[in-house]
Order: sequence, then structure tokens, then C-alpha cells
Amino acid sequence: MNNHLVYIVFGVSGSGKTTIGRLIANQLGCDFFDADDFHPQVNIDKMAAGIPLNDKDRKDWLERLAELLGQIEKGQSVVLACSALKEKYRQALIKHSQIAIQWIFLEGNYSTILNRLSQRTRHFFKPELLHSQFNDLEVPEYAIRINVSKSKNKIMEDVMNQIGLEKNKVGLIGLGVMGKNLALNLATKSTSLSVYNRELKGLEENIAKDFCNENKELSINGFDNLESFVYSLSLPRKIFILVKADVLDQVIDQLIPLLQENDIVVDLGNSQYQLTRTREQKLNDIGLRFLGCGISGGEEGALNGPSIMAGGKKEAYNAVSEYLKKIASKDKSNYPCCAYLGSGGAGHFVKMVHNGIEYAEMQLIAEMYQVLRKLYNLDPIGISKIFAQWNQSELNSYLLGITEKILKVKEGKDLLLDKILDKAKQKGTGGWTVQAALELGVPISSISEAVMARSTSSMKNMRVKLESIYRFNSQKSDSEFEEDELAKAYKAARILNHIIGFEMLRQANSQFRWEIDLSEVARIWTKGCIIRSNLMEEFVSTFKNLNSENHLLQLDQVSENIRTSISSLLKFTGHGISYGISLPVFSATANYFNAMVESQSPANLIQAQRDFFGAHTYSRVDRPEEEIYHTNWTI
Ligand code: NDP
Repeated sequence: MNNHLVYIVFGVSGSGKTTIGRLIANQLGCDFFDADDFHPQVNIDKMAAGIPLNDKDRKDWLERLAELLGQIEKGQSVVLACSALKEKYRQALIKHSQIAIQWIFLEGNYSTILNRLSQRTRHFFKPELLHSQFNDLEVPEYAIRINVSKSKNKIMEDVMNQIGLEKNKVGLIGLGVMGKNLALNLATKSTSLSVYNRELKGLEENIAKDFCNENKELSINGFDNLESFVYSLSLPRKIFILVKADVLDQVIDQLIPLLQENDIVVDLGNSQYQLTRTREQKLNDIGLRFLGCGISGGEEGALNGPSIMAGGKKEAYNAVSEYLKKIASKDKSNYPCCAYLGSGGAGHFVKMVHNGIEYAEMQLIAEMYQVLRKLYNLDPIGISKIFAQWNQSELNSYLLGITEKILKVKEGKDLLLDKILDKAKQKGTGGWTVQAALELGVPISSISEAVMARSTSSMKNMRVKLESIYRFNSQKSDSEFEEDELAKAYKAARILNHIIGFEMLRQANSQFRWEIDLSEVARIWTKGCIIRSNLMEEFVSTFKNLNSENHLLQLDQVSENIRTSISSLLKFTGHGISYGISLPVFSATANYFNAMVESQSPANLIQAQRDFFGAHTYSRVDRPEEEIYHTNWTI
């Protein structure tokens, strides 16, 4: 978007020279001058008194402006807003200028302009002077003519087209951790890009412009003015938003008045799937399009290729999929890890479940570390070696890989890990998964235990006090350390945790009438995302051609793997707990398995208790389930 010229926006007073001139300067990223600011006070006073300026009045003023333009060097651009009504004024203006001038005439009829002027309150020009301006006006053939009787949006469209400023294909709002990296990812894939970051005086200044300056070799234009950012984009506009969930609606509301029918807004942040549905509806109702896309991969993924989970209307997805696929990671067959998953909040729902699985996967590794360190007395380097070996096997995963590295990082002579406070923070996606599971009535105990484990960890002070009261047993195991058994326990727990997460997706399909393809979800989670692993690669084929009625534990490949490892999980969990090690997620997977394979559960007793104290009724095994019974238990 860099045309090195002097742009002079001219026309009678009230034609919008300052507003449009400023917007053009924003598009070009260059300086803007308003000729009115160069009038001597005597001219201002004259105009305010309703006395038209004569040529003598204008002489010094035009000379000052000509000197200004004469100082503009080749390779520079500036925009000047100036009435320049007569040819001789225009010639006087450019008499020292060394570089090409682009004249932009803002054209409107007398009544339109008069109407605009009468609405102005704080301008020194009196509407009565308009008549003399129209009399003076000489329109040159060399000027671009822009009709100003339209919306600002349309006027800018015209200006941009006529001066041949190329518009950018994609816009991105929010240059935080994810936004900056995604912007670089997009721009290096030769997508012309406009970026916008809010401007907060004294706090957040020139974020977008500094970002562009740091990356001059890429085709990125930076804006701190939302309106200019929007005008810099080709139609239909494609705007990716990367802000935190709590300010998303605020940003969307600022955007809406600037957008045109069919423009597409894409939320790439972590949002609650119900809110994504509401936002989609709201934008659709006013002729705009909206997509809710979950992305995973953190900072590094955003830069080099994240996994992208898209939800919304298919035709909206089709309009931006080219760009999403460009930036996504690639699977082992070089297909983008980006998929359309369904209407409304499907994309964010899948991303939410992804994060739920991630919470539990992280907790499983943390629990295994605790067992190895406390129960078997291994030092972190020894644990790192074990994790490194496992990472060379079927247990390979991104999370295990980073843990292996974390366990080796020192600060001076000490392990850095030992200096990190053991309070795990959370930003909410794990909790959202638990809430959604409750609403759907789907058991996701490994995920809910992982979320609760973070809450327990945050109670550090209380844990310290309680340890001194209750910690009576040794946490050192009396039995031998069997690495193979531990590996099998970990394998079983991981499979079960994944089955729990994917089951939530399967059940959401039937409740929300989605058609989320579990094999496709596994495929886009094989690269770029935080839960990528060998197991995920296996699930791509395991979940192909599923019978939607069947539970995932019924799949042959799943049951074969669980059969050979489940007893290790049950033993491991019991052993660890008996020595006072907290294993919430290992035990949750073990309990889930035990409960799911138990044909006769004790829930009949629960039903009897409910009926006893609350007359909640029960169904009988010897009668149709729809029939309900109540007993007067006290008799
Ligand atoms: P950051 O906090 O790093 O960046 C947030 C951005 O939002 C900043 O550019 C910030 O601008 C802008 N912003 C904040 N308040 C406002 C406001 N009121 N109006 C306009 N803009 C505002 O967040 P991340 O980049 O980490 O996250 C962005 C989204 O991506 C979130 O939804 C997050 O959950 C999701 N995500 C994050 C991942 C990660 O690993 N970080 C991974 C996957 C998804 P300013 O600089 O001016 O404050």
C-alpha cells in the first residue's frame, strides 16, 4: 500500500477534506496536514466574521503551504487537506514541489454541503461563505473526483479504488501473544495483512506501527485507528480477532458500525461455545458473517502452525478457509490441521474439549512425576531420562517431551522446577468443559478431577498446615520400581482420558445435531496442538467410520490396548494412594473404567435412598423403565 506521492484533498468547505484526508493518511501510514491550521489569525477572524478571503489574504498562507510541500522528499508521502478552489491557488501550492501530486476533489452539490455545514458547531467557517466558494470553484480535469453524498465507508472505498491503493486481504485485531505470532504466520505465507491494536495513551501506544516497523520485510500495515484499519481491507472483509474473551463483545460492537454486508468476523480466541452461537446469531441478523474458531498450539503454534477448529456457517468458513489452511500446521500427509466442524459453537466446543483433555494429560504427567520422585525416590534427571525413553515409544507426546526438558533446566546449581510455586493457575476452559459436561449429562471424571486438582493446588497455605497434622505415613515405596508397569499404567490412563474427551464430542453430536467427525478431530490434533501425540495418530484410524450408537470403549483397537494395560493402572493407582500420594486423574480414569464395565452398579441403592427421603421414585428391573414406583420405606 505504499504509493510515494503528495495527496491533496480539495473542495469547498464542508466537503469532508479533513476527515477523508486523515483517513487516507492513516491508510498510507503517512503525515497529514490541514491547510486550515496554516491560516494566520487575521484570516481566521475574517472568515469567522463571515467575510470572504481575497487573493491578498491567501498569498502568505499559500506560500507557507508551498514551502511545506517543497520540503517533501522523494520516497515520502503526505496528505494535505486544502480548499485549493482555483487553478492559480493550486499552482501556487505546488510551485516548490519536487514530487508527483495526486489531486483528490471532493465533490458535492450546494444543498448537500450546506446541509453538512449547518450541522457543524465548532468550525470557524460560516455557512454564508459557501456561495462564494461555489462561485470560485474551478474543477481541474487532472483531479480524481469523489462524490461525497455517500457514507464515509463508501467514500473511502471510492478513494482507495481511484487512487489505486491496493487493499489488504486479511485484518487482524489484537497484537498480544497469539495475535503477533499469527500475524507473522499469515504475512510470511504471502497474505497482505492489516493489523490493529488499541491505543491507550501512556500505556499502549504505537503497538501496531512498532510491530510493522520490526517486520518491514513483510506485507503488513499497522493501525491504531479502527476505522482506518477496516477501510484498508478488501471486500468482503475478513477480520480475525485475538483478544481475551472478556473484551471480545466490546471489540465486536466497535467493529459493527464500520462493516458492510457479508463481511466476516472470525473469533480465534478461546470463547464459550454458547456465547459463540449468540454472537453468530447477532451478526447474522444484521447481514454480517461470524465464525468461532478454536486454535491450539500456544505461542509457538501460532507462529509456525496451530491446529484450527472452525465453527459457524459453512459458506462463511469457505470464504476464509484459504487463509486458515495457510497458517495451520500440516499433518503427516501434509494436509492442513484445520477443519470445519459444524454450525454455531461447534469449533469452540471442540477446542474446549481439547483443553479439557489437555488439563488431564498435564495432570497425569504431574502425578507420574510425583510418584517417581516421592514414592520411588528418583531425582529429576532420572525422571527426565524415563520420560525421554517413553517419549521414544508409543507413549510419545508433545507434553511428555516438554516435561522431559523442564526436568533438566537449572537455575545455578538448583533445579528451576523446585523454585516454582506449586499453585496451578487456570484460565477457565477446563471449568467450561466441566460445566458443559454437566449440562450434557456426560461423565468426564478425568477432566473434572484435573480441574479440581488445580483448585486444590491453589490452597498452598492450608496444605502446609494440614501436612503437619496428618502426614504420618512414609511416602517411600517398599516394593520394587517396575518401569514397564508404570509405563503401562500411564498408557491405560491416557487412553481412558482421551476416550472420555472424545465421548463428550460423540454425545454432543447427538444432543446438538452436529456431525463432528471424531477421526477428523483426531487428525487436526496430530500436529500443531498441545495434545499431539502418537496416540492421537492412532485415533485417526481407530475413529474412522464409527457407528454413532456405539460407545468408544466398544472399539476393537481401544479394547485391545486397554486389556493389556488396565491391570497396571489399577495396581499403580491403589499402590500410590495407599502410600499417601494424591492421584486424582489416574484414579479417575481407573474408576471410570471400573464403573463403565460393571453391569450391576450400586446405583439401585442410591435410587432407594432418594425414594426413601424424598419420594423421588424409581424404576424396576422387572418392569418397563418408563414405569415409576414409590415405596413407603418406613413401614
Ligand atoms: P494477550 O493478553 O497476550 O493479548 C490480548 C490482546 O487483546 C492484546 O492485543 C490487547 O491489547 C487486546 N485487548 C485487551 N483489552 C482490549 C480491549 N478492551 N479492546 C481491544 N483490545 C484489547 O492474549 P493472548 O494473545 O494470549 O490470547 C488471545 C486469545 O487467544 C484469548 O482468547 C486466549 O484465550 C486465546 N488463546 C491463547 C493461547 C495462548 O497460549 N496464549 C492459546 C490459544 C488460544 P493491549 O496490548 O493493548 O492490552
